[in-house]
Amino acid sequence: MRTPLIAGNWKMNGTRAEALTWAAAAVEAAAESPNDAAVFPPDVWLAAVAEVVGDAIGLGGQACSWETSGAFTGATAATMLAEAGCSMVLCGHSERRHVFGETDAEVAGSVTRALEAGLTPVLCVGETLEEREAGRTRDVLLRQVDAGIGATRGPADPLIIAYEPVWAIGTGKAASPTEAAEAHAWIRARVAETDAERAAAVRILYGGSANPDNIGGFLEVPDVDGALIGGAALDPATFGRMIRHAPASAPEA
Ligand code: PEP
Repeated sequence: MRTPLIAGNWKMNGTRAEALTWAAAAVEAAAESPNDAAVFPPDVWLAAVAEVVGDAIGLGGQACSWETSGAFTGATAATMLAEAGCSMVLCGHSERRHVFGETDAEVAGSVTRALEAGLTPVLCVGETLEEREAGRTRDVLLRQVDAGIGATRGPADPLIIAYEPVWAIGTGKAASPTEAAEAHAWIRARVAETDAERAAAVRILYGGSANPDNIGGFLEVPDVDGALIGGAALDPATFGRMIRHAPASAPEA
């Protein structure tokens, strides 16, 4: 009922030519897959990538401002992403929170601006290693989920959540499927506290050193509805294998 979404976050990587090649490969893989796919290129390549992907796969920005417009040098408004062809945007990616210092309130503002612009926010949440070791993982996730969901206008708003433990991103040390299962269950239960229907429908992606060898383990977890992939999405063949991944029980597309 929830079609898995396999999404690639290219971060600050790739030339224009590479972006177009990677996008074409993702479209090709998605055509042969039971999964949905999406790519999140650097902003400057969005319009060109939009021409390649059309409606075949999702296209998203990596972040948007919590402001609508104005004197915010270097920032991108959600409306600009929409006009460039995006259908979604990452809100509160770990690197935005921990490298650029975005707060829960700012992430919440980005969620609101995204929705106003007609984009699906992909709300990224995740604990640091210190928080996990202090036994605070659940508290941190629920706080981040509450802030993000509180910024939506109601249950009819589109929303995707990505659980991305900070300690697993770009480290080669993925969470175990058991750790992901626990975190995803906490997140879905939290959404269910206010809206059971939304909780049943929302896709919750796992992110953090996912690769072709471990993605199957994550996708077997009932509450894991896809993956947000960084490093492994920079190789089109590797990312293509992940897009094409089908659970043993699923019919091939
Ligand atoms: C990410 O940036 O969202 C991510 C999950 O990165 P990586 O796959 O490289 O850990």
